Amino acid sequence: MSYQEIDNLIHKAGEKLGLNDKIIKQISEPQRIIEVNLPVKMDSGKIKLFKGFRVQHNNARGPYKGGLRYHHEVNLEGVKVLSGLMSLKTAVIDIPFGGAKGGIEVSPSNLSKCELKRLTKKFAGAIYDVIGERKDIPAPDLNTDPRIMKWFRQEYESIVGHSEPGVITGKAFSDGGIKVRDEATGLGGAAIAEQLPKIIGKKPCDTTVAIQGFGNVGMHIAHHLYHMGFKIIAIADIDGGISHEDGLDYYKTYTHRKRGGRLCDVCFCDKHGKSTDCTNISATEVLEQDVDILIPAAIGDQITVKNAAKIKAKAIIEMANHPISQNAEEILAKKKILVIPDILANAGGVLGSYLEWKENVEGEKLEYNEAVEHIKLKMKSALLNTMKIAQKYKCDLRLAAYIIAVNRIAKKIK
Ligand code: NAD
Repeated sequence: MSYQEIDNLIHKAGEKLGLNDKIIKQISEPQRIIEVNLPVKMDSGKIKLFKGFRVQHNNARGPYKGGLRYHHEVNLEGVKVLSGLMSLKTAVIDIPFGGAKGGIEVSPSNLSKCELKRLTKKFAGAIYDVIGERKDIPAPDLNTDPRIMKWFRQEYESIVGHSEPGVITGKAFSDGGIKVRDEATGLGGAAIAEQLPKIIGKKPCDTTVAIQGFGNVGMHIAHHLYHMGFKIIAIADIDGGISHEDGLDYYKTYTHRKRGGRLCDVCFCDKHGKSTDCTNISATEVLEQDVDILIPAAIGDQITVKNAAKIKAKAIIEMANHPISQNAEEILAKKKILVIPDILANAGGVLGSYLEWKENVEGEKLEYNEAVEHIKLKMKSALLNTMKIAQKYKCDLRLAAYIIAVNRIAKKIK
């Protein structure tokens, strides 16, 4: 996805709302782009230079909020896209945050633990003055975890000279994190899915699901859907997957994967024990299953003009960021496939982050069950509101979600 695509959608939404060009531009353009060079001492004694980014997209509705990713493909354009999606996401779900994203161009698996720690501390030192629990709140993202966030926070706190747990979300429970955060994105997606059987005229037990990606999001959404009674008939990860028309057993699948097994190696189905009962499928074939709900929960640009015509699902819940390319979406629309857009579908994660931040900063603590119910209710109401707006403006759910977000941000700018 390019930033131009987000910009186009923000403009479309702004025009539907009758906003003037100046306001639309203020919503679309990132407010601040930070690019830093990070010289880091390697274990060999040599100095290596890394590039770090933080794009603070918009803070009209509250402090900037968004993750930090470590990946060799991190670049400014990609970080800009993700920062824009964050501003829209926090607005759609109506939490008082803005949007940001950051990252370092690095292959973390090539670094030792000490090198990774030095790099993280260098990054924190380079951007500490624009970060803060009321300014900009990073979180873990691709290839970053609570341990890395702890190093980042330690360096930040040592520079500013006081403890500030709310400067980071996605912390370990022992460091001020909250239990629900880990599963919040998947839980939020499941809360959206819970509404779909009514829309397509089925019961959850007759509603079939296929999931691409069995990492944090894929596993948690599968877990919740399994308990809600959905029939998950296909799951695939990057190294292959499995399908069975009677439904897969979540726990067998999860346990096997957690032990490092490939999904296609064993038959997991509920009612059968032999591997011949299940069908092995690839990471792309999972997208083409004849199911009611398809859940891309891996990476972006998985449904493109190349495979859009082969998609048979009645509804797609975009748990990954931008899994559907723009041209593919037109094909899906012609096939009347309902697409729940990423800025709505995967907003449960930032909602969980908000609960953690609220507990750290404002002392407002929710028990685990209360937090689960809160996320489910918020996601349900955001979906229903998006559907209402789609009807009002006679548009698809993606544009409707953009209309809601742009309207909420514009109200704070005017
Ligand atoms: P993860 O790294 O835990 O899991 C991703 C999984 O997808 C991995 O198991 C990986 O092997 C698999 N995968 C990668 N490429 C694949 C392919 N081509 N086909 C099938 N599987 C493939 O990441 P995650 O946290 O689960 O995030 C998944 C997606 O959701 C990402 O796009 C992420 O940006 C988005 N997202 C995550 C969160 C969150 O809170 N974790 C929040 C919002 C959006």
